[in-house]
Amino acid sequence: MDPIKSKGEEILKKMESNSKVSLFNKDWWYGSIMDWSMKNEAFKTQMFRFVDVLPSLGSGSDVAKHLKEYFAESGDELPSVFNVGVGLGSLAPGLMAGAIRKNVTSMAKMFIAGENPKEALDTIKKSRKNKIGFTVDILGEATLSHKEAKEYQSRYLELISWLADDSKKWDEVSQIDSDHQGSIPKVNVSIKLTALHCSINDKAWNQTKDILKEKLRPLFDLAIQKNVFLNLDMEHYGVKDLTLEVYKEILSENSYRNYPHFGCVVQAYLRDSLADLKKLTEFAKNRGTPFTVRLVKGAYWDTETIEAAQKGWQVPVYTNKKESDANYEACADYLLSQFQFIRVALGSHNVRSLSAAIISAEKYNVPKNGFEIQMLYGMADPIKKSLVEMGYRVREYCPVGELLPGMAYLVRRLLENTSNESWLRGKFADGKSTDSLLADPAIDLQKTSSEPIRSKKFNNEPYLDFAIPKNREHLVSALENHKKTFGKTIPLVISGQEIKTSQTLPRENPSNTQEIVANICLAQTEHAEKAIQASHKYFNDWKKVSVSQRAELVDKLAQLMRRDRFQLIAEQIHEVGKPWAEADADVAEAIDFCEYYAKHMRELDKPQVMSGLPGEGSHYLYQPRGVAVVIAPWNFPLAILAGMAAAAAVCGNTVIMKPAEQSSVVGFGLMRLILEAGFPKDVFQFLPGLGEVVGEYLVNHPLTSIIAFTGSKQVGCHILQRASLIQPKQKHVKKCIIEMGGKNAVIVDTDADLDEAVDGILYSAFGFAGQKCSAASRVIVLEDVYQKFVARLSDAAQSLYVGNAEDPYFDYGPVVDKDSHQRLQSTIQKAKKDFKLLFETATPNTGYFVGPTIFTDVPADSFLAQDEFFGPIMSVIKAKDLDHAIQIANGTEYGLTGGLFSRSPSSIAKVKAEFEVGNLYINRSITGAMVERHPFGGFKMSGIGSKTGGPDYLKQFLEPRTITENLMRRGFAPAEG
Ligand code: NAD
Repeated sequence: MDPIKSKGEEILKKMESNSKVSLFNKDWWYGSIMDWSMKNEAFKTQMFRFVDVLPSLGSGSDVAKHLKEYFAESGDELPSVFNVGVGLGSLAPGLMAGAIRKNVTSMAKMFIAGENPKEALDTIKKSRKNKIGFTVDILGEATLSHKEAKEYQSRYLELISWLADDSKKWDEVSQIDSDHQGSIPKVNVSIKLTALHCSINDKAWNQTKDILKEKLRPLFDLAIQKNVFLNLDMEHYGVKDLTLEVYKEILSENSYRNYPHFGCVVQAYLRDSLADLKKLTEFAKNRGTPFTVRLVKGAYWDTETIEAAQKGWQVPVYTNKKESDANYEACADYLLSQFQFIRVALGSHNVRSLSAAIISAEKYNVPKNGFEIQMLYGMADPIKKSLVEMGYRVREYCPVGELLPGMAYLVRRLLENTSNESWLRGKFADGKSTDSLLADPAIDLQKTSSEPIRSKKFNNEPYLDFAIPKNREHLVSALENHKKTFGKTIPLVISGQEIKTSQTLPRENPSNTQEIVANICLAQTEHAEKAIQASHKYFNDWKKVSVSQRAELVDKLAQLMRRDRFQLIAEQIHEVGKPWAEADADVAEAIDFCEYYAKHMRELDKPQVMSGLPGEGSHYLYQPRGVAVVIAPWNFPLAILAGMAAAAAVCGNTVIMKPAEQSSVVGFGLMRLILEAGFPKDVFQFLPGLGEVVGEYLVNHPLTSIIAFTGSKQVGCHILQRASLIQPKQKHVKKCIIEMGGKNAVIVDTDADLDEAVDGILYSAFGFAGQKCSAASRVIVLEDVYQKFVARLSDAAQSLYVGNAEDPYFDYGPVVDKDSHQRLQSTIQKAKKDFKLLFETATPNTGYFVGPTIFTDVPADSFLAQDEFFGPIMSVIKAKDLDHAIQIANGTEYGLTGGLFSRSPSSIAKVKAEFEVGNLYINRSITGAMVERHPFGGFKMSGIGSKTGGPDYLKQFLEPRTITENLMRRGFAPAEG
């Protein structure tokens, strides 16, 4: 018989003979919840969401309200599962809430070994009596600040010391306290990198590694000093390579290279896992002292697949569970074959996987106590017991920490236990046959692909993954190359000819004002006149070019931007101080705009037949309007200019591009590619210059048909007014597409997930120094969570680094220029007199830097909470309740973006209905709209355009026409109208 099967059967038989404990004990509340969850997906989602929100609910009535909102499908009836055990249905809301909280707490207690080390110690000791070892891990909220990171590090240090000291009193249990070479540490601690540092920044790879190593060294030192085993846990794929590099580098240091009791983790659901194991083994060989690899399947499968789909990245995990299972066996076999160099801990609850690994161990003559088997505390106890009886070294992974902040961990365990694919579910709940439980996963394996998941509608250009070394290297060399061009002259381009003017504007690098990125030629009115005449003349030809040819050229332009991506990013970093990732996102958005508008124009090109009545032919179609003047801001220097210009041109209009004064280098980068793409020379003109000179002239010109403007309210409203004046010889009313500013608010509800809220709000407010029209500048917090939120926000904001945009170590760079800097500084000085400033940060003086600035208790009607400043200034406003918060949120003249952090379905529904903004975001940051997925734009004083990147945008650049023809001749009409 197949040895793996017989090993599996041996384990299963033992489980049956000695265990009355079933995994899903149906008499108990937990059992019923799990049963319901497995039968009903919708209930499962709601249940796990409810468990997640419960810790943040202050009062009994809050719990009752959420219960009702989550579960009462019709009327006020809760599902009968809430009646089990404690007869909840008969209790008053307050009492029922108490009972539910008690039940969820005891559910959490099943998986969490103790709320504090002392409590955990009792659990650990009990397990040791049963010959089960442990590794402890600290649970808690996400680390958002240096302060929180420091606290975690201290808690880990205390835990190590405390357990090590106490362990001196513990009896030796030879089955778990020794391996084939002698005794091993009784105390085993697992640590997480994301707990020790608040912003793991893969762009600044080496600096981040240095910081992480610095934070790890005290823990590694203490582990050696106290003879403790220290394991570095693995989390999301995004930090996988960084974690492994940090691990290897620290283990190579002289102080640590001879200590054998360190470990790391490899997740077999990752397609990289076998390759990583091979590299780790090579490393172990060179190091000379073995260390341990804990081989697990991986606990973040849903997150990894969803994130990869949303980012359009390769899927790092196997998407078929059997592939992960088969890979686990292959990885275990490989690791055990390398036993002389590396130690193995097999983390799994799947008897088939464990049996396969045990058989591999036997094949390579690995002694029975030469490897260990790890399982999570509270899970698969019957399997643990059997394996212990069979003489294996079994260890439990025991999280320690307050039950309520540990909910994320609990939800992961619940998901694991109820997943269709779970082996435990198959065994204990679904009663699968032994044969299927022990089946070889490699048989009839359907291999899946790692290719990014494609949408049928539209695929956004994926952002660069800076965890990939070549992306970082390319950008560094693009920055170096671009630096070599500093001081160049940026010309105008009219009818394909570069024109240099005598008047120029030096453009400083805002990160380093010693550097002049370029001298920008300033177009004068005579240039504008020349350009507009050429555009007007050529319009007659361009409008006749077929849509497919125009769209093809726009697609070509996108293709060239993709080719020159790194150069385009580097230009933005130097010219407007945009940080790496945001500059990359801008280029990706420019590509998306081109491709989306090209695709959409092809769709609009088909004339619609209006009525099917006999004797009449009626068609609805679009035609271009004429000369489009595109006036762009500097903050999305490529995307907005390219988006407006591509939209105008693909519709058949000729285009005059007037970039912002601060971003003409980037604008010229676009013009260069337009010419290379092969557009006829008069489709686009490029006129850098002063807004009030050349912009004004173009707006006023009688030959201008369309004005597509994005910028401030002040200029936008001025343009609207000017454009409405009919000039002599003007033959049409100008079409204005005007996108303006915002004073965007995020509401934080009492039940918000503060880990997510603080993180999302910080990014929304301070990403690119708050210089996005969508940036959060008001945060409206409900009274009940105000103190807690502000404290965490303040600590987290003080953990942001501000400095040269070229250096990805910094979270954000400078503001765009001297004027902005002065305006923001004087606003801050003025506000300091009347409002409560949370803290001040020192910033470098090489450029135009403004630190994150947060004022609290700001009155909603004050200038600080009403005016757009366009910089890193945030007003925190207190609201009595949700209605009050919405009233404050709507209380400005703007209506661009807004957000809400809440886990109450009724609050979410209310805010969706009542918050008056063009783009509303729930439980996420409020910036970063993506073409097609999130068509973007506001109303009220935020603009009069139809959303960019959406289905109505192009129509603004077109005149719709209806052509109706009488098809009757002498009483006879063709069969079809
Ligand atoms: P800005 O209004 O100062 O300048 C925008 C453009 O208008 C520049 O090209 C400028 O040269 C030109 N201009 C200035 N005076 C002019 C005039 N009299 N006639 C014609 N053109 C003139 O804005 P900015 O500082 O470049 O950008 C920041 C502003 O843009 C913020 O208010 C921000 O909220 C807004 N913005 C809005 C959106 C949106 O989609 N709603 C997007 C990005 C930026």
